[in-house]
Amino acid sequence: MINPLSSSFVIGFLGAGQLARMSALQAFRFGMQVAVFSDRPEFEPVQFMTPRSFSGSFSDAESMMEFARSCDIITLENEFIDSEILKELRDRSGTPVFPSPESFALIENKRIEKETFESAGIPVTPYAVVRSADDLHRFGQTCGWPFLLKSSKGGYDGYGNETVKSPEEAERAFTKLGGYAGHEILAEGFVNFTHELSVQVARNETGYVVYPCCETVQENHICVAVKAPAPVSPEIQKKAQELALLATEAIDGKGIFAFEFFLTTSGEVLLNESAPRPHNSGHYTIEGCVTSQFENHVRAVCGLPLGSPALMKPAAVMINLLGTRNQSAVIEKAEALLAEPNGHLHHYGKLESKKGRKMAHYTLLGDDVEETYLRAKELSHGIEI
Ligand code: AMP
Repeated sequence: MINPLSSSFVIGFLGAGQLARMSALQAFRFGMQVAVFSDRPEFEPVQFMTPRSFSGSFSDAESMMEFARSCDIITLENEFIDSEILKELRDRSGTPVFPSPESFALIENKRIEKETFESAGIPVTPYAVVRSADDLHRFGQTCGWPFLLKSSKGGYDGYGNETVKSPEEAERAFTKLGGYAGHEILAEGFVNFTHELSVQVARNETGYVVYPCCETVQENHICVAVKAPAPVSPEIQKKAQELALLATEAIDGKGIFAFEFFLTTSGEVLLNESAPRPHNSGHYTIEGCVTSQFENHVRAVCGLPLGSPALMKPAAVMINLLGTRNQSAVIEKAEALLAEPNGHLHHYGKLESKKGRKMAHYTLLGDDVEETYLRAKELSHGIEI
């Protein structure tokens, strides 16, 4: 592979949304060229950034081959491409893909993901594969009601998840998730938690860095805010960071990874989910840390030494700015937020706003995490997008 710091080096992103866009911005700072492959019909945020723009289907390696051959390295912004297809793409094009298809294969299915992490000694939420009404009843009896049903493949932001309170609801949800149509469904015990935590890890052959443990604040299964560091004890923060590193090693991860945990009411740290890519819970690192998750994403997949994940200020808070209406995207009523000296607005450049769609985010740095959170909420309240 040519030197990644050569101006003819091409980094390719599979997926063209905000995660690839923020990574691409960092790649440009390193003098790289950016190529992108989108599977969407609409014009996506990275496609404005480069003439090296390709589109087609993620479910067909052939469709991605021209893109792959034009890149020196390929990385991803989502986990929805089958690891077998990624393997075929890498082997036929000869272009390295990181995180590797082998790492993907260990986490692309929720059951395999849980098995991978359990065998590495990482506590996960209690679960079982369910195949029938009997299995659903049995799970309710042993783990208690309510519990969750999750599709093994393809879920995100709570899509593909159902909380069920009774055998009738469980059967309805099982049918809705495709349980009777051959989709693998997991039942997962309902965890009573005090906080949802997240940790990013960047790793490659030069070493690894572990980001601070942050808290994600969720409403209706969507992350609305992130507080860094998480307002939990230093011991709990350290525990989550240790488990995140262990999990990255368990999949021999090369790239940037995010791990989401539950801190249970009894003080346990349980792994909920992993993501082999930059994550919404790490957007605060752009201004909040010495090296952002996006910069370390690019560094990690290109084999460059990794940058420091240390916080720049004692507190960093990120607020997701979700679409408030269905129309062409424009941010309004942002004057107060833009006037704030330690505040940073990021607009993803999606053409169309939709209610609840992730359109932009706002990061505020401060000295105290709860005060900064309240101030960031106040400043972003009333924003229209
Ligand atoms: P997921 O798509 O698995 O990240 O789930 C989205 C959100 O649903 C999580 O952030 C939690 O707020 C909630 N959730 C998921 N799994 C559980 C669980 N086992 N117990 C309680 N809440 C859960």
